[in-house]
Amino acid sequence: MHTTRSFDGWNSMSPADDALEYKRRGYQFVVFTDHDIVSVAPEVCDDTFIAISGTESTSETGHITGLFATQPVPPDLPPQQRIDALAASGGLAILAHPDWQVGWNEEKFRDLQGYIGFEVYNGIATTNAEREQSNEKLWLNGLNSRGWSNRVWAVAVDDSHEPGMIDKGWVMVKAPTLTEGAVKKSLESGAFYASNGPSFGVLGVMKDAITASSPNASVIRFIDQEGKVVSEGPAAWASYRPSGTERWIRVEATTAEGRTAWSQPFWLIPNSPKVAFTSIWGGGMALVGQTVPGARVHVADRGEYLGSVVANDRGDFIYRARQLTNQPHDFWVLSTAPWPDHVEGPPTLFAYSP
Ligand SMILES: [Zn+2]
Repeated sequence: MHTTRSFDGWNSMSPADDALEYKRRGYQFVVFTDHDIVSVAPEVCDDTFIAISGTESTSETGHITGLFATQPVPPDLPPQQRIDALAASGGLAILAHPDWQVGWNEEKFRDLQGYIGFEVYNGIATTNAEREQSNEKLWLNGLNSRGWSNRVWAVAVDDSHEPGMIDKGWVMVKAPTLTEGAVKKSLESGAFYASNGPSFGVLGVMKDAITASSPNASVIRFIDQEGKVVSEGPAAWASYRPSGTERWIRVEATTAEGRTAWSQPFWLIPNSPKVAFTSIWGGGMALVGQTVPGARVHVADRGEYLGSVVANDRGDFIYRARQLTNQPHDFWVLSTAPWPDHVEGPPTLFAYSP
C-alpha cells in the first residue's frame, strides 16, 4: 500500500490513517510500500493489528518491494544489488507487478537471487485474465528453472494508492501469533496463500493427498509443473493423490466470476525418503528409512492408509504397525515436510513410491 508519503499518493492517506482503514476492513496486518522511502506507523499496532515497515524500490529496471525493510535502497542500483540491500536491512524482497510496463521477464525471474516471491496479482497492473495467466506462466517457468531449493512464492497485493483501491488482492498467512516475527517467518517459508477473491478453508496434505476446500469458490483445481490441470473437484472438498511423477502441484480455488486463490507449490521429490521393508531388532518387520529431518512420513499399503510417523532430527524413521502382515505388500510412502503439523513450515510434499 502507498500512503501520502509516496510521490504518487496524492489521493491516499497518512500511514496511520491508511493502516487503520485496512484494520477497519478486517485485515490483521498491512505493509507500507511507499516509493523509495520507508514508512512506519507504530502507533496503530496492537494485539489485533500490525502495520509493518517496508518500501518499494522504484526503478526503470524493475520495481521491488521490501517487506519489513527498515532502509530505502538507492533506486539506481541494478536489481540484484537492490534485492541484496533490502535483505540486508531485514527486508523480504518481492518482484512487483511483472505484467506492468515496468515489469519482470523470464530471464530476470530465473537469474535473480535472494527474493522470496513475486506478485501473481497486482490490483493496478493485473487488469485482465491474460495478464494473470502471463504471471502464472512466469511463475511456472521460474519454479521449473530455479528448482526446489530456489523456489519463490506468489503473493497478491492491492498496490493501493487511495481507499478505492483497497480489497483487490491480499495474502492469508498461517502464523502461530500475530507478531512481526511470526508473520515474517511464515511469509519467508511460504506458509501462506494469495488471493484476489476466494479463501481456502482446508489447504494441506492429509494422509496421502493434497487436500483443499473453499467456502466461497466454485471449483478447486490441482495444477502440475506443465500447467496442466491434473484434477478438478468441488470447492466443498477436493483432493489429489500424486502419482509420484509430478514435480510440483499447486492448488487454485476459483469463483464463478474467475477470481482466484493461489496456493504455494507442493513439491514432490521422487525417491526422497529412502525406505526398506526389513526385520528389526526385537522381532517383526518395519519400514525403516531416512527423509527430511522432522518430516511426517505417511504409509499406505495396497491402497489402504495405515498411519504416519515423524522422522527424528537426523531424518531417520521406523514405521511399525500391526497391519504389516505377511501378505504381499504394495507400499506407498509419503514424506511431508513439517507442515501443516508445524504452522511455520512451507507447504511441501515429498513423495516416494517403492
Ligand atoms: Zn510499482
